[in-house]
Amino acid sequence: MALGCSSPTSPSRIDAINDLKVSHFVLPSGSWNWVVLHRLLYPHALNHFLNLLVPDFTTGLDRCIWEPDKHGEFSIKSTYTELSKNTWDAKDRRWDLIWRFKIPEHIHYFIWIVMRDRLLTNESGYHMNHTDDPSCHLCGAFTESALHILRDCALTTPLWPSLLQHQHFPDFHILGLVDWILLNIDNCQLLSGTAIPCNIFFSSLIWQIWKHRNSHIFAATTVSNADLLHVSRTWALQFHPSSLIPVSILILSQPSILRWCPAPNGWLTLNTDGSVNTISSYGSAGGLIRDNDESWLTGFNRHLDITTPLQAELWVIHEGLLLACSYLLRDIPLLIVGSIS
Ligand SMILES: [Zn+2]
Repeated sequence: MALGCSSPTSPSRIDAINDLKVSHFVLPSGSWNWVVLHRLLYPHALNHFLNLLVPDFTTGLDRCIWEPDKHGEFSIKSTYTELSKNTWDAKDRRWDLIWRFKIPEHIHYFIWIVMRDRLLTNESGYHMNHTDDPSCHLCGAFTESALHILRDCALTTPLWPSLLQHQHFPDFHILGLVDWILLNIDNCQLLSGTAIPCNIFFSSLIWQIWKHRNSHIFAATTVSNADLLHVSRTWALQFHPSSLIPVSILILSQPSILRWCPAPNGWLTLNTDGSVNTISSYGSAGGLIRDNDESWLTGFNRHLDITTPLQAELWVIHEGLLLACSYLLRDIPLLIVGSIS
């Protein structure tokens, strides 16, 4: 990494740097010596040091701790293999559980990160010297851990009765992080009153909790628990389409090519579509009216804020009908209403 000396053209300054050792940049208290660093480096280079662990001279001399690979080269792969050989078991059932059920890849990765306890919480930031306050800024709990965010925070606990309804999980609120995740992603029972497997709903809910918690902290947006549960349940339905459409229909359905067709003479066509961003849950709706020559006559679009795919589709039907009514008032009598889903 080229950090850049603050006075690269000064031979005396370069000599001064060459005479320095790493230990000159570290204070006896164990923190970076910002006075020396500030004197020698550009301000932008100092930011790199915020991400570097301060050398600890009490751990002994530097030494090689892994062998090069079979080609005689050191690599990221050989480093990772060495570091993880005692902590990784590819046949461990927990990794099968994470990756086997059908949810979006970004939620697979999210659960994997949680299972590895690598979520960026105030507790982990405290241990990495990124903050001096490990507490939860939302409820005041002493430590904001991953388990606190997803299960134990005062803002989160009211969400879980919806999952636990009619189920007997006496350990739900006392299990450690890994066991708690495993308990839930291995639970294939159906959510009470729905056709959604509990593990799909659980995955959707913890992702929404994490996402909206970040929005609340960094963008000051607020979503009610009722809306959070509604969004989580709706996305779970999207992840698990067999709960929406009977399997027999899925098997018997024949693929077909759809294309836009102009309306007959004297008719107009209204086409509408609603969409929702899978990451932010922000939705939008749009539509247009064309005549039988395929000419654009008018249209609309609308930002829907946080919503669900079903609500987005209902919005476009509503807005489309309003647009159609405005044309009917202009004595253009006939419309075909079509919605792309
Ligand atoms: Zn909290």
